[in-house]
Amino acid sequence: MEKNIPVLYQNKSDCCGCGACVNVCPRNAIKMVADECGFLYPKIDDDLCVGCRKCTSVCAFQNISEENTPLSTYAAVSKNKEQAVKSASGGIFASLAEDFINKGGIVFGASFDEKRGVSHQLVDKVENLYLLQGSKYVQSKIGNTYKEAKKLLTAGEKVLFSGTPCQVAGLRSYLGKVYDGLLTVDIICHGVPSEKIFQSYLHFIEDKYKGKLTYFTFRDKNIGWGINGKAIFETPSGKKKNVTLWQSGSSYLFYFIKGWIYRENCYQCKYAGAHRPGDITLGDYWGIEKQHPEYLNGADGWDESNGISVVIANTSKGLEVLNEIDGLEMRSSTFEKAAYGNKQLMHPSEKGKRQEILEQYRIGGWDALENRYQKKIGIRKYASQVKSLIPLKMKRWLKGRI
Ligand SMILES: Cc1cc2nc3c(=O)[nH]c(=O)nc-3n(C[C@H](O)[C@H](O)[C@H](O)COP(=O)(O)OP(=O)(O)OC[C@H]3O[C@@H](n4cnc5c(N)ncnc54)[C@H](O)[C@@H]3O)c2cc1C
Ligand code: SF4
Ligand code: SF4
Ligand code: SF4
Repeated sequence: MEKNIPVLYQNKSDCCGCGACVNVCPRNAIKMVADECGFLYPKIDDDLCVGCRKCTSVCAFQNISEENTPLSTYAAVSKNKEQAVKSASGGIFASLAEDFINKGGIVFGASFDEKRGVSHQLVDKVENLYLLQGSKYVQSKIGNTYKEAKKLLTAGEKVLFSGTPCQVAGLRSYLGKVYDGLLTVDIICHGVPSEKIFQSYLHFIEDKYKGKLTYFTFRDKNIGWGINGKAIFETPSGKKKNVTLWQSGSSYLFYFIKGWIYRENCYQCKYAGAHRPGDITLGDYWGIEKQHPEYLNGADGWDESNGISVVIANTSKGLEVLNEIDGLEMRSSTFEKAAYGNKQLMHPSEKGKRQEILEQYRIGGWDALENRYQKKIGIRKYASQVKSLIPLKMKRWLKGRI
């Protein structure tokens, strides 16, 4: 009998790389394969496939799905300052995850892996939560974590699954039913570059700083709340070099913020709006100074340098969990106010010069993008680095006078 092998996606813009099809295939016939720029797409092994079509029906990115709409929106910070410093925004994820583990649950999220990429991993001990903390601006590989989560839920365990909205939607579709023990957390997400692109950049900085990378973070809170990273290199003589990767001085952060190196489908992201797949949504409360100056002033005003999050409860389960946690300080806001400084809550990123940039990368690797960046940015980067060092409160004071 002739097999009816399905087509998993027509165009690259139809596939977010969530891997739900890989997890659902009963024959293990699907593998994620990298394209020229390193973006992973599922590929069927025709010899193994039996034509059951479970893979096409599980695809949340291509099938219309019912998502949640915000019930309550907050500005929030973690009461645990140490946790907030290790996190990208207000440390909300760590507070949620710690509480979840302390109540006997298991947490999934994105961690740097031993191959200098990012993968989803399971954490069941509070002391290992640091692995999942902090934003990694690279696509995380889901691997078999949907299967692992299902196994745990079926055995009656409590699971917190966090990730980009498309990863959370992929999990929900893969599970196919509601589990009482599942809590989902999606992050506000404007797009993901590939692991290959990220690794080209890491090779570039190792050459530049003449050392082996021993530590890397995209968001170093020690220099305040912003998108400035940090890297530590070990030179051949054993010396340690600490380098701040300023948003304005790092070519990777520049192209990332511009939105020119994301996966093709991110420019048609279904989740860039109020319809959220997670019980809870977390993001940076960019623009809080305009939307809620009252939360920053006075004796109980928040210190912005530790980061302030936007937290959205999309379901009654999410709302209940948030209300039960002691470690959070939450103040009321609205979705409209949060979206004001976070365009990703209104529409997907714009493609801009993506095609041109990725073509240049395909031909000349990261060196080509670095050269382009240096020509474009030149001296301007130093001015904005100085600006980054001025505390936010002083910047505002100066703005009012100059
Ligand atoms: C690629 C990407 C784009 C983002 N874009 C925006 C944006 O446009 N606007 C905005 O407000 N916020 C954005 N964020 C979210 C923001 O940076 C913080 O992650 C979020 O506010 C949570 O902060 P936190 O302090 O509570 O926790 P943190 O400890 O900072 O974050 C940990 C959480 O982030 C998840 N995570 C980290 N990296 C990844 C990854 N590569 N893939 C999937 N999940 C990941 C972990 O699983 C965990 O749930 C983005 C994050 C990522 C990873
Ligand atoms: S299930 Fe996910 S990885 Fe598979 S085709 Fe759909 S979007 Fe792509
Ligand atoms: S049709 Fe069935 S066997 Fe074939 S790849 Fe899809 S899920 Fe696997
Ligand atoms: S922008 Fe949308 S499609 Fe792209 S990674 Fe984020 S959630 Fe997924």
